[in-house]
Amino acid sequence: MSQAKAFSIGVDLGGTNLRIAAVSPQGELLEKIALDTEVKEGRERVIADMVGAIRDLQGRMRGASLAGIGIGVPGVINLATGMIRQSPNLPGWNEFPVRDDIERLLKAPVILENDANAAALGEHWVGAGKEVSGLCILTLGTGIGGGIILDGKIWHGQDGMGGELGHMTIDPNGALCGCGNLGCIEAYASATAILRMAHAAINVGRSPALRRAAEEVGELTAEIIYITAQQGDRVAREIFELVGRSLGVAIGNLVNIFNLPLYVLAGGVARGWDAFEAHLMDEVQKRSVVYRATQTRIEPSKLGAEAGLLGAAYLPFQAAASGAGAAAH
Ligand SMILES: [Zn+2]
Repeated sequence: MSQAKAFSIGVDLGGTNLRIAAVSPQGELLEKIALDTEVKEGRERVIADMVGAIRDLQGRMRGASLAGIGIGVPGVINLATGMIRQSPNLPGWNEFPVRDDIERLLKAPVILENDANAAALGEHWVGAGKEVSGLCILTLGTGIGGGIILDGKIWHGQDGMGGELGHMTIDPNGALCGCGNLGCIEAYASATAILRMAHAAINVGRSPALRRAAEEVGELTAEIIYITAQQGDRVAREIFELVGRSLGVAIGNLVNIFNLPLYVLAGGVARGWDAFEAHLMDEVQKRSVVYRATQTRIEPSKLGAEAGLLGAAYLPFQAAASGAGAAAH
């Protein structure tokens, strides 16, 4: 048993950004490397970049022992095989043995996890959910990811596909979602949904302010629509009201199902919190009998973009603590 200080490596492998960090057992971010994910260059290139950065961090952490590597991936993971089952953001990675490949290259235990699950774990470890044993997270980005922590652990379900909160139906005849269903929360509260609603309003001439904003910047973003809402534009405000009400329906359902102490909203759209908070809370209050009877917190993420990175880094520490890492000693 070495007395060396331990650290773990967390990797946030996104479709655009590849971020790698060395993290202490107390959840302090010690060193970080941020790269572009060269998806177009192919899988081998991305893995080589990742492995290179991890070796770089190991070099900087000389004298400390590596507890393991956790990798958060945007997609459905096969936990048993350590493969990505399905990931629209990482084409060509399906059914490729990512975990075993990286373990072989680095000779350290690797744990693969869905990125929203990793974010939920990060918030639980050192973020908004530090004091609670369970929480749900919704990551509001291009799509909507979900993660559920029960008794301190990620809820995976039977096949590792549990916690797909973004595909909760909130309107049976609603807008078409990327998953093929109608009326998922993702079709109402993701950045993609906000853009769709804004373009629809512009196309029928309903919002001169949004049209001007779009012309000024070339391409609309959810953030610009948020700023337009904060400047008082009625249509942009209505869009964020619908975002808030839709999230309220979804979270009201989650509160009724789980009776957990905390529900966290993360991702880019959550930065528009003050444009939708009142509508969200109003809807939860109206719809959830459990919410009305309990002390339940609904809050924006504390860790922001670092949640997934820190959660990924926590995976090896958690595995070691629960005995699953015993084989590595
Ligand atoms: Zn869906």
